[in-house]
Amino acid sequence: MTLQESKDLDYLISDESKRRYPSRLKTCIKYFNEPNMVFLGGGLPSSDYFPFDNISINVPKPPFKSGITNSIVEKDDKQEDVTDISLFKDLKIFDNDIPLSRSLQYSNTQGHPEFIKFLREHTEIVHDMKISDWDIAVSCGSTSAFESVLRIFCNPGDIMFFESNSFSSFIDAARGQNIKTFPIPIDEEGIIPEEFEKILNNWDSNYRKPKLLYTIPTGQNPTGSTIKIDRKKKIYKLAQEHDLIIIEDDPYYFLQLYPYIKDVNKREFLNKDNKVNSKDFLKTLEPTFLSLDYDGRVIRLDSFSKIFAPGVRLGWITTQKRFIEKFMRLHESTFLIPSGFSVSIITNLLNKWGQEGYLQWLINLKREYTIKRDFVIDGLIKNIPKELIDNEIIKIYPPEAGMFFIIKMNVKKHPEFKEKDKFNLNIEKFEMYMYEKFVKNRVCIVPGIWFSAIDPELDISKNIEIDDYIFFRGSFAGTSKELEKGLERIGETLKEEYIDQKEKKRSK
Ligand code: PLP
Repeated sequence: MTLQESKDLDYLISDESKRRYPSRLKTCIKYFNEPNMVFLGGGLPSSDYFPFDNISINVPKPPFKSGITNSIVEKDDKQEDVTDISLFKDLKIFDNDIPLSRSLQYSNTQGHPEFIKFLREHTEIVHDMKISDWDIAVSCGSTSAFESVLRIFCNPGDIMFFESNSFSSFIDAARGQNIKTFPIPIDEEGIIPEEFEKILNNWDSNYRKPKLLYTIPTGQNPTGSTIKIDRKKKIYKLAQEHDLIIIEDDPYYFLQLYPYIKDVNKREFLNKDNKVNSKDFLKTLEPTFLSLDYDGRVIRLDSFSKIFAPGVRLGWITTQKRFIEKFMRLHESTFLIPSGFSVSIITNLLNKWGQEGYLQWLINLKREYTIKRDFVIDGLIKNIPKELIDNEIIKIYPPEAGMFFIIKMNVKKHPEFKEKDKFNLNIEKFEMYMYEKFVKNRVCIVPGIWFSAIDPELDISKNIEIDDYIFFRGSFAGTSKELEKGLERIGETLKEEYIDQKEKKRSK
């Protein structure tokens, strides 16, 4: 299939972004590494004075025969399980190494070619790209990339669509820049396209119509929901009809887990002999918004935070080339480049593992997080009184992706919810009370209200219906020891509140 060029959507950018031009000084950096060029044009410190001569790091080696969790130190005698990452100031061992004299120097804001090349190949393997002029720019993780999105596309006072409960740091980031947030109803499968359509079609013309939809399609934070392809197609169509840009923030994309099976003996993925082939793994992944994007209206944010470690502060942005230019213009005067240590270590690791090795890492991660998800769901079923679950006073859902689980609680079924001198039907009061009760019982899970995209400063944002259930978010990323204790305490708290309280009332 011949790919089409993306649409020119530059008219959607912010006033700030319109004012940005390429830094004239930065245009000459491309000559820095050219042979026979005497480069005296930049304020680049001499790498002779970088006090870093070499770095050596051991990481596990694909296909990760002994799993991805064991410390390499513990298996000193098994050197065949180790990938050695050795980087030198001026020496390249492999073609794709970025020597420290280069990675620790000022350089092109888009990213080093060795890194971008790997990511381009990865993109072609994972996403079915529909436009010809797509490109990639490196980021310092999705938090920083999201901040850039706000500055490139929003003017103060703009309104932006968010899932009705969404990642609170990004809601705060938007509001901090005087961008209002408008909630889109979601359920266990993410954004409800029909509800979104109603909102778009009935938009109050007294308010500027949003240009951006921010979504976390996989293992959503906080609800754990995942948007399937049918809904994604409908949402993308709405974005086309209403000229929206979709910000696809997908840090949990590769944590799409095996289905939850109640019977432990039937959990086949646990069988270590079941080798997963990377082609089969790729087939199990939900297609992304990026893969549906014929116009170039999707901006995808990827991050290594949940794949390697949050502290590497490295990620990437994929979208049409014109938008990538806008990111580069901004980044030239904000973060410039991510840490050279991170870039050279991660680039070396990726190139040594290769695309196949990286996929094997992701396959292992999926298995590990499925074990944790199953542990938590089994534990909730075990610890929450059965009658609360059977009567749907408490609802739990095995998330299909990510690292979050939610516990839904029917507020109206709480024995004191309607009592005037207690909660007096005040949901917020009830949520905060429950939060404090969990903390008192030494387990910290967080109330859904903290993730609400209802904007207190935007009247039309408040029309969203609230149902009988509130929710609390927990993470299953912890150790099984921590999780076990936490789940017992959650069960105990719910029993005290919904069963013991009722008994107390009855016996009064
Ligand atoms: N986006 C979502 C949905 C998240 O849940 C998180 C972290 O929890 C981030 C972004 C942060 O990503 P990064 O570490 O790449 O900034």
